[in-house]
Amino acid sequence: MTTANGGNVLAIGIDAAESTLVRQLIEQDEMPALKSLLADGKWLRVQSPAHIGSAAVWPTFMTGVEPGTHGVYSEWSWRPESMNLSRYNGLHLTPFWTLPALQNVRVGVFDVPFAQPVGMSDGFEVSEWWAHDTTDAGLQAGPKEILSLVKRSPGHPLSANRFVNTTPNNQINLKELTAACVEGARLRGQLAQTLIRQTKPRLSLMVFPEIHHAGHQMWHTVQPDHGVYNARNRIDGHPQEPLLKEVYRAVDAQIAKLIEAAGSDATVMVFALHGMRPALGFPAFLAPILCERGFSHLANWRSQSWAKRALSLLAAIKRHTPDEFKKLYYRLTPTVATHKLARPIMLPAYDWANTRAFSLPTDQYGWIRVNLIGREAQGSVPFDQYDETCGQLKDLLLGLVNDDGQPLVQDVVRTAANAENALNNPLPDLVVHWHDAAFAWPVRIKGSKVRAEPVGKKSTGQHASEGFCIYRGANAQDLGGVVAASDLSRLIIGSLNVR
Ligand SMILES: [Zn+2]
Repeated sequence: MTTANGGNVLAIGIDAAESTLVRQLIEQDEMPALKSLLADGKWLRVQSPAHIGSAAVWPTFMTGVEPGTHGVYSEWSWRPESMNLSRYNGLHLTPFWTLPALQNVRVGVFDVPFAQPVGMSDGFEVSEWWAHDTTDAGLQAGPKEILSLVKRSPGHPLSANRFVNTTPNNQINLKELTAACVEGARLRGQLAQTLIRQTKPRLSLMVFPEIHHAGHQMWHTVQPDHGVYNARNRIDGHPQEPLLKEVYRAVDAQIAKLIEAAGSDATVMVFALHGMRPALGFPAFLAPILCERGFSHLANWRSQSWAKRALSLLAAIKRHTPDEFKKLYYRLTPTVATHKLARPIMLPAYDWANTRAFSLPTDQYGWIRVNLIGREAQGSVPFDQYDETCGQLKDLLLGLVNDDGQPLVQDVVRTAANAENALNNPLPDLVVHWHDAAFAWPVRIKGSKVRAEPVGKKSTGQHASEGFCIYRGANAQDLGGVVAASDLSRLIIGSLNVR
């Protein structure tokens, strides 16, 4: 095995750090580690498939292939063979650190979102010490001595409380969340330094998810005057402390220590695959509008089996339960149980024979799947009607306006160019990007009876597509200004100089 004799690479992901905020904090000397890294290195824009869904970006990074190949776009994926959803477990993905090119390179991997351990015999691999996006597998680490070291180390404060019920105006809660993220970043940095010093990997790859977690709940603290908040009176008028910046600064302080531990001759990359921007919830009217316009049909009550009736009932109860009860439900129910309970009720019971297209549960963009014969087990749309169906859906969506005539849909992305490609397409066939008017509470759609409140209204940040990478290494000046998320692994491998 190669040991640390120079030529090492330290790659640090700051998950969902917003590039414009990072630039601003660098200019204001509030992220000194990144400032000095940038002074000796190069800023690259990172283009990722975030326009398909936020869950697509890390699998793209770690496999080096696009979502149409790795198939991950959500924590819940559509399974056409069972006409249902299944929870992501990451077991089908091959991370680049298992490639033959790296077989003689000692590697350390710490909390890369969506990545599972691969059974390393040296170096270290830790997954879900604390994760914003969890696979339900819980903490895993290897080799054995690393697992015991990690278990002996202090746990992440967010493991005890993820503060997901924090409301934008609850300053006490927001301060507690900030403190938990700051302390979590410190403990993470400390643990990573210990692992790097003890195992001396040539490639150290680690991720800070604290900024991602805080960004969703605290984006309004850095842009309190943005129209999206004020238009809905969600910010109570008291000046907001820019608490989120504290989390950015805390991560920067840990990056400084990790760079020091890696040594002055190491190639260093600090990157984010996507960013964050102001938002309040996301639209939830896609499923009802597809029903209203005849693309989807719900199974009627009488035709449902008893088991399905019970689930529909449960779904109805859950939709109508008062907020307070829901908070309690999510606080008391462990993550695993919540997911197991939530899975069957995220999709209503469809009458598949009469459903040509249907929406999938999402956390940002609208996702539509065509019920294609030959792909969906209970498909209803013939191969030669796929293009036409996509076209009709696109016309419907781009024609949606509110009562004031403002369009609700900005654009519709097709993920398969034609029916032939669609047959093997694991992704939603259409991805719907919303206009601001679609975020109204409630949105009134012209010529429609559908009235649906947005969901996730406590979340004040949503993903922006652009990422960034600050690269300091021997060939920094040879790099162009843009890199694809799917090419970052090749950049890392190239920087290791392995043949
Ligand atoms: Zn997110």
